[in-house]
Amino acid sequence: MRSPLALLLPLSLASLAPRPATAQAVVDSALGAYIASIRAIDTHAHPMRPVATNAPADSEYDALPLDGIPPFGFPHRLTLDDPVWQRAQLALYGIPIGTPDSARKLALAAAVTSNVTKRGLHFPEWALDQAGVDVMFANRVAMGPGLDTPRFRWIAFVDALMLPLDTRAEGVTPDTRALYPKESALLRRYLHDLGLTHAPRQLAEYVRGVVVPTLERQRAAGAIAVKFEAAYLRPLDFADPDSALAAHVYARYSAGGVPTHAEYKALEDYLFRVISREAGRLGMAVQIHSLETFGGYYRAAGAAPDLLEPAFNDSTLRGTNFVVIHGGWPLVDETQALLAKPNVYTDISAMDIILSPTELARVLRQWLGEFPDKVLYGSDAFDGGTDQGWEQVAWVGSTTARRALGIALTGMMRDGEISRSRAETLALMVLRENAIKAYRLSGLSR
Ligand SMILES: [Zn+2]
Repeated sequence: MRSPLALLLPLSLASLAPRPATAQAVVDSALGAYIASIRAIDTHAHPMRPVATNAPADSEYDALPLDGIPPFGFPHRLTLDDPVWQRAQLALYGIPIGTPDSARKLALAAAVTSNVTKRGLHFPEWALDQAGVDVMFANRVAMGPGLDTPRFRWIAFVDALMLPLDTRAEGVTPDTRALYPKESALLRRYLHDLGLTHAPRQLAEYVRGVVVPTLERQRAAGAIAVKFEAAYLRPLDFADPDSALAAHVYARYSAGGVPTHAEYKALEDYLFRVISREAGRLGMAVQIHSLETFGGYYRAAGAAPDLLEPAFNDSTLRGTNFVVIHGGWPLVDETQALLAKPNVYTDISAMDIILSPTELARVLRQWLGEFPDKVLYGSDAFDGGTDQGWEQVAWVGSTTARRALGIALTGMMRDGEISRSRAETLALMVLRENAIKAYRLSGLSR
């Protein structure tokens, strides 16, 4: 609580103003120190391979990179106008807060280049150390040098497997027209990896000869989960599948021709469940992007967590653990209701770079009061260019999440809802232990 006098003083002097004797820090200091010491598991991120300046840029950080869609608005905290990025650049590269923009750009570029040169393939590991992250899950098309186990674990993309027919009638907005061809290209890559030039003509053979072996290859290559980015392409309303209709649609168009939207949806709905079921059988969890954004033509209503309930209620999918990625923000109430299902989890990735700690704390307190074993840490660390490298985003996500956890758990402790030791337990669960359970990780200590 600030005294009225403090409100009138510049920040540097405010700390000298007399404080009421009852003033309490927003975060209990011992609890804050404990939370800062936890080596987290970041369950959703897009780390980059460190590449030499003359090598081709790393383009495998996402199946649906958004650089090909028309310009769109970013949440304010993701823009460099937000002071949190200056704090990240101070912590990682020693660039003082308040350095003017042009000088900051130069200093940052020099610091990043010398750091990457100095650390080489160990740069990604260094980035995790700065963020207090033990293990980062890398949502990437493929891994590569510098992103090795045990510090990095792979999460593969599977939307392409749901889209084996001509998608030309599916891309109906400037965004989706740019995105569908990327999925077609990825499916060609998956076929090529299996030694195939085209998909089989019948659906059963496609499932047996392409879907299952691709998932098995991903698992064998170390994938611990698969990810659907479907909300960028279509609503998440995966209906009860009609296998006869799906087989009919597939056979009709597998040699050519463009299915209607209704026909394609029937096939996708069927394949979504096949992919999810097989992933679970192989021991892989399924991540599903559920967030209000990104893209100028993005359909926020199509990304609502509630739309997933019919699929989550499919008893044949109960062997698969699902994670509602990005907490379904801002529809966190819908996400919360889904957490009652035994195989459904959520994470705070992207939320901890979009929201202030105070706002994220409100969500965490709401969720932790009801389903504390279902909430996971993630950052969605991505590469925002030279001024906003993924290592900065990882740091912002981690520090924001820890601060938010501190606020939420301190509040619960002071309101007599939980003990101090329970607060510590909950912090460890969110930052680490829940991930071990949801992703069935072996060989990691709690
Ligand atoms: Zn992501």
